[in-house]
Amino acid sequence: MIITPHLLVGAAIGSKIHNWWAVAILSFASHYILDAIPHPAYQLNFLKTKTFGKGTVADILKLGADFCLGFLFIFLVAEKTASFPYMALGMFMAILPDFLQVFYRFYKNRFLEPFQIVHDYFHFDKTKNFAWQSSVTIFTIFITITSIIAILIK
Ligand SMILES: [Zn+2]
Repeated sequence: MIITPHLLVGAAIGSKIHNWWAVAILSFASHYILDAIPHPAYQLNFLKTKTFGKGTVADILKLGADFCLGFLFIFLVAEKTASFPYMALGMFMAILPDFLQVFYRFYKNRFLEPFQIVHDYFHFDKTKNFAWQSSVTIFTIFITITSIIAILIK
């Protein structure tokens, strides 16, 4: 899944819950729940080739634009609120599983393997029916909009 929905859900959790541990755990878990929902995703060349070369700049631009879109939106609407530190933690924890996945793919570290197994277990099956996936994608958009509303409502 692209980064922005994960950031929004993590920020929504942090906007409503002001307990560091609860925000960290719930935001981390939210990543797997969102990944379980069928969704379109962009391909990253460096994950396929496991090298930084041709296509890496395009990868960085895609990831950077995606991250900036979500982060800037949240920063602009909530930066001055008392919830922002919790929202920042929520955002970090909500995208952490994807960073762990990237490190695992490059380094095959055995401490990261359990996270990869959990990630693979929850991530939706790309071989399933596309029509069904498209209808569930609407649900993903619903979750994203709901998260935005939750962030905006004090
Ligand atoms: Zn993921």
